[in-house]
Amino acid sequence: PFELDDGPHVVHGSVGIAEVDEHDEHRHSAVFRDAELAMYQAKRVGGNSIEIFARDMHERARARVELAAQLRDALESGGLHLAYQPIVDLVDGRVVGYEALLRWQHPVRGPMSPAEFIPIAEQSGLIVDIGEWVLRTATKQLAEWQGTWQDQRYVSVNVAASQLATRALVGQVRRALGESGLAPERLLLEVTESSLIDDIDGSVEQMQAVRALGVRFALDDFGTGYSSLSYLRRFPVDIVKVDKSFIDEIHEPDGTLLVRAIINMAASLRLSVVAEGIEAIDQAASLQQFGCHLGQGYHFSRPMPVDDVAANQRTFALPVGPTLRVVGE
Ligand code: C2E
Ligand code: MG
Ligand code: MG
Repeated sequence: PFELDDGPHVVHGSVGIAEVDEHDEHRHSAVFRDAELAMYQAKRVGGNSIEIFARDMHERARARVELAAQLRDALESGGLHLAYQPIVDLVDGRVVGYEALLRWQHPVRGPMSPAEFIPIAEQSGLIVDIGEWVLRTATKQLAEWQGTWQDQRYVSVNVAASQLATRALVGQVRRALGESGLAPERLLLEVTESSLIDDIDGSVEQMQAVRALGVRFALDDFGTGYSSLSYLRRFPVDIVKVDKSFIDEIHEPDGTLLVRAIINMAASLRLSVVAEGIEAIDQAASLQQFGCHLGQGYHFSRPMPVDDVAANQRTFALPVGPTLRVVGE
């Protein structure tokens, strides 16, 4: 450990190993490239580890580079879209907001899951520009809809680690709000614990600067990361989104206890709770009973294309459960 002014720092190493046949002279220069590829693989899996070069690493690296180039192309040529999933008040069935979710129609592979292309956008640094596009598109869209709605709804936008790490976020948010004219309290930003953990002080500082504009934060996928109470207190968030894996197990004995514990803990910290991935009416009913006020999931609606949100906005009827009441607009 190195003792620096701000405390101890530990240096880790990532090692890539490639073998070379001493008689094969052609391979002598290639071996460094192979070892380097293996080292990057070691870093990708979290660092502080060792990887041995395998032939398919070249193929996989090429595929990643190609996909990143296609993604940049999509960003520049209007090939990215947003889908909107309603977030529902579990007490009266009203839609309180929408989560904006990125969609990419790959020219050859068809619709690709963000779970697959966002990591590539993160590794290539492209996520910062994509994140800005998402912010501008979502705020503009909501501002447009908001003019036709009688109630106030918000849009929830996912933010990537590098938007915070590069300090790009404050400027991006300011520009998006300025261009769209959207009121800041109509914008919610979703961050995950793992995206804040590398530089907690820097992240908290960025978040506070964004909050000073009047924008709120939610902690996404809660329960899957560190789920540390001390972090929860330190991060300037207003909302906790309970991960789908907990809602899946809400009717298992331990699952019930965990969901209730999270809801109660959030309540004592004066945080709102959104339950993610509600697929069944009895899950919604239990959540409501446990005091969870908000939820989203396929049970209510899948993420919708823009036109469907606009078309549905007046008559967005929610399925009625044993304890749910439908309130039309
Ligand atoms: P997330 O932010 O936790 O978003 C919720 C995911 O769960 C979405 O997947 C949504 O379609 C899915 N989902 C919602 N309700 C249900 C349900 O009832 N059942 C099931 N099985 N799934 C449900 P999606 O759209 O594939 O996005 C995956 C992840 O990709 C997101 O997880 C988020 O981490 C990331 N992502 C999406 N859009 C963006 C973006 O614009 N920027 C960044 N940085 N990340 C994004
Ligand atoms: Mg999210
Ligand atoms: Mg989530």
